[in-house]
Amino acid sequence: MKKLYNATIINESGACLPHKDLYIADGRISRICESGTVQPDLVPAETIDCSSYFVSPGFVNLHAHTAMNIFKGIAEDVPPEVWFNEMIWPYESKMTEQDIYTGTMLGIAEMINNGVTAVADHYFGEDQVLRAAKDTGIRMDIAPTIFGTAPDFRERLAQVSEFIRNHQGDSPRISLRFGPHSDYTCPEETLAQIVDEAKKMGLPIHLHLAETELQVKQSLERTGKTPFRCLYDAGGFDLPVLVAHGLWITEDDLTCLNGNTWFAFCPKTYMRLASGRGGFFDFADQLQFSFGSDGAASSGTVNPLEQARLFAMLEKFNRNDAEIYPFLEIWQRLMAGHAVFGADSGKMAENAAADLVIWDLNTPDTMAFYHPVSALLYAAGSENVRYTMVEGEFLKYDGVLKMDYAEVAREAMALQKNLLSRGKGTAKVYY
Ligand SMILES: [Zn+2]
Repeated sequence: MKKLYNATIINESGACLPHKDLYIADGRISRICESGTVQPDLVPAETIDCSSYFVSPGFVNLHAHTAMNIFKGIAEDVPPEVWFNEMIWPYESKMTEQDIYTGTMLGIAEMINNGVTAVADHYFGEDQVLRAAKDTGIRMDIAPTIFGTAPDFRERLAQVSEFIRNHQGDSPRISLRFGPHSDYTCPEETLAQIVDEAKKMGLPIHLHLAETELQVKQSLERTGKTPFRCLYDAGGFDLPVLVAHGLWITEDDLTCLNGNTWFAFCPKTYMRLASGRGGFFDFADQLQFSFGSDGAASSGTVNPLEQARLFAMLEKFNRNDAEIYPFLEIWQRLMAGHAVFGADSGKMAENAAADLVIWDLNTPDTMAFYHPVSALLYAAGSENVRYTMVEGEFLKYDGVLKMDYAEVAREAMALQKNLLSRGKGTAKVYY
């Protein structure tokens, strides 16, 4: 049992509750009480003095290609079609298992360092992704990616089904779902096959939809339907769906959605790839959304806090309205994403999962603050994350990552050189 002594709690609504003791056991918050009150039935093995700290639920990253941290900075200042066709997909075609493992370790290290306790991953090489998740202890939802246009589509679908069957129930921190890459790389028939397989296994899906205006235009030319309508007609919205982006959603698409549809919005990627101001911004108040980062090769970072910060600033700027998206609302949006993981995390309540961050705001970048949530949203960085905890286990402790980060970084620099010297291969798909 651990005790967080005399903390100020920041709850999921952004309310601050000072002078609390938190007791943590068996991965859960077992008790929250006024600091200093005697709890004779609880005997902590370790006490952290949080008198000058804040404790909140961790952050969730609802859409990441975590392994792409190995490609961070490899394709800068290029439009999406060059980014995919000439850079990322050719390099990815020559990726090794070691690249995927180390890239995923790098991405997880960055996330834990920034107070992320859960990530919805969307990538191939799922054995290595799973291995990295288990080695680090982060909570991860894994959606092995499937390309319907790839020549080995049938084998790949069978491989993913088998992976899921073999690893369901491995760990309470791991959840699994199907990851069709997108509507444009999964033509209707293949999308329907993936959806049917997910239905058979009782699992949700995670896919890219309507990321760019061009994708919507090409979908209309090819099928007469928008990407959302394609998924709807394939039966996809009968399942819980995690939609990455949906930036160019149309008003008619709103009728496809239901209470089990979540959006992972990644504004930093849209800004860097100049993806435009799509309908998402206009319909945001009708959408169930939180923030993702996308891969580090497009967004540069995998920190959802930064994405949330950019979202609020973009809308204030574009609408010429400083009052829109107040910081408490953005905080609530960040916290809402916990629902996707079904782990009872994201709440400062007894029996909730102990996926927590202990914040130190007594640093030059956040002092002197007037509300801790506005300090977090607009001023904080990874140096303010003193401790990160998943299911009661510390993954960052007193400012230091628990994993052997120096070894991961050494390996990454060696792999980065190999990647460049191997060069680009032939991509299986075309954007
Ligand atoms: Zn993505």
